[in-house]
Amino acid sequence: MRIHRRMKAKMNTFNDLGLSEAILRALSVEGYTQPTPIQAKSIPVMLEGRDMVGIAQTGTGKTASFVLPMLHQIVNGLYRANNGCCGALILAPTRELAIQIHESVKTYSRFISITSALLIGGVKPHKQIKSVARGVDILIATPGRLEDLQGSGAVSLEETDVVVLDEADQMLDMGFIPAIRRIMAKLPRKRQTVLFSATMPKQIRSLAADFLRNPAEISVAPASKPIDRIEQSVLPVPKAEKRQKLIEILSADDVERAIVFARTKHGANKLARHLENAGIAADAIHGNKSQGQRQRALAGFKSGEIPVLVATDIAARGIDVDGVSHVVNFELPNVPEVYVHRIGRTARAGTEGVAISFCDVEEYDLLRAIEKLIGRTFPEVSGLKREDPTRSQAKPAQRSGRSNRGGRANPNRRNQGEQGTNAGGKPRRAKWKPKADGGKTEGRPHHRRAQSGGQRQNLRQSA
Ligand code: AMP
Repeated sequence: MRIHRRMKAKMNTFNDLGLSEAILRALSVEGYTQPTPIQAKSIPVMLEGRDMVGIAQTGTGKTASFVLPMLHQIVNGLYRANNGCCGALILAPTRELAIQIHESVKTYSRFISITSALLIGGVKPHKQIKSVARGVDILIATPGRLEDLQGSGAVSLEETDVVVLDEADQMLDMGFIPAIRRIMAKLPRKRQTVLFSATMPKQIRSLAADFLRNPAEISVAPASKPIDRIEQSVLPVPKAEKRQKLIEILSADDVERAIVFARTKHGANKLARHLENAGIAADAIHGNKSQGQRQRALAGFKSGEIPVLVATDIAARGIDVDGVSHVVNFELPNVPEVYVHRIGRTARAGTEGVAISFCDVEEYDLLRAIEKLIGRTFPEVSGLKREDPTRSQAKPAQRSGRSNRGGRANPNRRNQGEQGTNAGGKPRRAKWKPKADGGKTEGRPHHRRAQSGGQRQNLRQSA
């Protein structure tokens, strides 16, 4: 018991974890004084060379938890790769996440001489092919582009010593599991495999069982539970009043930087335009935007030039931007776990955050599923369903059709957020009268931007 306590106390600094001096220096420049719980647990396991399953949400410091031991091994000459090969491979579900991981690799390796490359879709492959031609220590890739370049012979995984699958549950949501299995099959049998996931659905467990050997399992927060520092609330807002309500919320003084989640790409575009028309600088980020547009939107958001990002789930997950004070769920997600990921965009790195979800009468079933998952109810909305008079007017056939759309009955629809499905169908507005919004929302986009620094206090620009 005493030994255990002493060991725990010993893991309080990065120094205790045995990381190389050059890495410690980089962490000190970053201002990291202590390892986060996931780092304290996973760094020793990774340094041992053991396979590992890490259950952790984004915002817990999990990127450093696998990048730091990789860098340590590189410093110690553990993996070096020949032409077209990589010593370590990190697979991420989205381009944005891959870019962020690459940035973290560069940050943490600033005092080490290593090579790294990024392979992602949406841009021409020529430069990427060149970047791996002479072999790299760390390769960060999204599955599609990696497979393309493997197919053309530009990249080979035959010398890869360690592979990390990051955000495995999102890989599942995005339909990447078959690609991951094909990629894993091409890796050497003797390797270290690490899988990170915020949740552990059956398919991820089975992926881990097929490709990991006797993995250590570490977990830092109960799967699917949102972090405590987020102040969550749900507002019952009829669909037709959501835009006005959103403007009110975003105009409040305490909103510094906000991500607004819309369910569809088209909806995200329209909403961003509506906000711009209302004098709130906003941009949309989703899968239909070119990689350049996505990166520009993200850069504007990070710099504070664009304080509001309207996002769909696929483009937004894994986005790590400090100082996101608010997340607004303009529409509730169809898959309850997505709620947890969305709200995790705020309250990152030990800060606090606010998550506000709008709930139209047609979204009650989705809210119920979220409440069940996170183990709490939202009194503002709970109980409304039974009292809502529009329910009794709906035809039974319609009702069942709608609830199927929102539910999880068909697992193939997990990814529908980016496929343009609107859970609402035609709104039933018998009792909740919509406010007119002046039809402004269909207007052409105004490419007006806030002056950086000028909108921090209040996102609303003078019209
Ligand atoms: P991640 O979960 O990897 O996306 O990291 C979330 C945020 O935590 C990032 O902004 C990191 O820079 C930050 N971070 C990671 N590790 C630490 C640490 N030990 N101390 C302070 N901040 C950290």
